[in-house]
Amino acid sequence: MLGLMQDWPLLCHRVIDHAAIQHGRREIVSRSVEGPLHRTTYAEARQRALKVAQRLEREGIRLGDRVATLAWNTWRHFETWYGITGLGAVYHTVNPRLFPEQIAYIINHAEDRLLFLDLTFIPLMEKLQPQLPTIRRYVVLTDAAHMPETSLRNAVPYEDWISEVDGDFRWVPLDENAAAGMCYTSGTTGNPKGVVYSHRSNVLHSMMAVAPDAFDLSVRDTIMPVVPFFHANGWSIVFSAPMAGARLVLPGPKLDGVSVYELLEGERVTMTAGVPTVWLTLLSHMEANGLKLSTLRRVLIGGSACPRAMIEKFEEQYGVQVAHAWGMTEMNPIGSICAVKPDYAAADRETLFDVKAKQGSAPFTVEMKIVDDDGKELPWDGKTFGRLMVRGACVARAYFKGEGGDILDKDGFFDTGDVATIDPYGAMQITDRSKDVIKSGGEWISSIDLENLAVGHPKVAEAAVIGVKHPKWGERPLLVVVLKKDQSATKDEILGFMQGKIAKWWVPDDVVFVDEIPHTATGKIQKTTLREQFKNYTFPSVAAAG
Ligand code: AMP
Repeated sequence: MLGLMQDWPLLCHRVIDHAAIQHGRREIVSRSVEGPLHRTTYAEARQRALKVAQRLEREGIRLGDRVATLAWNTWRHFETWYGITGLGAVYHTVNPRLFPEQIAYIINHAEDRLLFLDLTFIPLMEKLQPQLPTIRRYVVLTDAAHMPETSLRNAVPYEDWISEVDGDFRWVPLDENAAAGMCYTSGTTGNPKGVVYSHRSNVLHSMMAVAPDAFDLSVRDTIMPVVPFFHANGWSIVFSAPMAGARLVLPGPKLDGVSVYELLEGERVTMTAGVPTVWLTLLSHMEANGLKLSTLRRVLIGGSACPRAMIEKFEEQYGVQVAHAWGMTEMNPIGSICAVKPDYAAADRETLFDVKAKQGSAPFTVEMKIVDDDGKELPWDGKTFGRLMVRGACVARAYFKGEGGDILDKDGFFDTGDVATIDPYGAMQITDRSKDVIKSGGEWISSIDLENLAVGHPKVAEAAVIGVKHPKWGERPLLVVVLKKDQSATKDEILGFMQGKIAKWWVPDDVVFVDEIPHTATGKIQKTTLREQFKNYTFPSVAAAG
């Protein structure tokens, strides 16, 4: 027997329709690429998204065609996502921080037909254009007054392009399982692989994301995604903000501490989201200038492990609650969020911050397990490490064009490539990427735990730990440190700080001070480059033993 409720497919355009009807006057404020702040509303954004869809259709874009964006977070980029999905086409966010060859690879692999790009990226695309035969038109996200001379094929300023239609368009009816968006993995091993989000997974994910223990987003909030839309589906904020009716502030190309702070305060932001490196810059700007945060109440931190010291600082010095989240491109992208459960009601400060530093529990739509190398499930005791596997409504079941073959285990779980523990209350903690874990004497040492501890030292700005070959133990941890500006420290000072806080055999064998630690296109520490950099390194103790 079937239920007798209406069939109402979960489609992305329903989100902007809802926002325009219920929250039509709510603002979208953007720092434009041209410079000044720009203000629009959800109602206006919907009207312009309809024009985007109509104009794309006139361009010959059809159901399932891929349309790329290479752009910062602005109102125009926001509109393109709805225009593209409302036509049944597929937005493909391209990360400008990838190597140019990788950008060319993913655009060709996705067979993108048209590219929306910011002014910033014109020189890059002029160089790459000869390698991109599938792109028939470049639409520059600007107006005629700011449009430069360019050799890009059929280039046109966005404002002129959409003004050629009147917006009298109806969203294309679609199956909720139709493709809506694409994002490529950052491809640390081999070529990047395409993840294809469906309308259904975007809508379900956003419904999950607005909930109190996740983003905790309401119509009374102003949210600023510092995380770029091109990073892991923009953490779904393009959908979750209008779904909740929250006011949206978009930082455009300026992600430095001064600019981020200016918007947080100037636009009275209550909730923000981004990777730890962004917050490092913001915190050091605020510290150096004795600044406070007057409206911000919550910051969502993910993309790489958020150091406990950062959580303490946000909460105790600035009165801002931290929600530590874990996720990945293959998951729409949130996989877990740390919300302190009532079981910890009586916990002391130390225990509470230990819990908050975990990546947290799986929200509804995500199932998790940890397994050993044979796929056998491991206990949720908060101690046993295992490969983290996930299954759910917003988890990839395959990569685009079948790359990588069958990516699920026999029960339909996807191997995240992360190593984690899960405690008896369901809180997951990432201890490493499976390829970064340090194997010392047959036991595993978590590089992330060591990094988090090292950045708790007041003189340390950033830390990375890699495994280096050791004749007796196989591998031992080497700590690579960037000191804060104008600070100096000795190895013993740093190691002394760590001793007593971790098992003795986890203490790194040496510390190396560097000016900079390499990062990937999505702001993660690039361990492959670091390992390459230190491939000839020998521990002093090993060298002395000859
Ligand atoms: P991406 O697909 O680029 O978003 O990368 C996903 C990967 O980033 C995950 O598999 C993790 O290795 C890492 N990651 C994301 N969030 C966290 C977090 N909160 N703590 C530790 N690692 C994280």
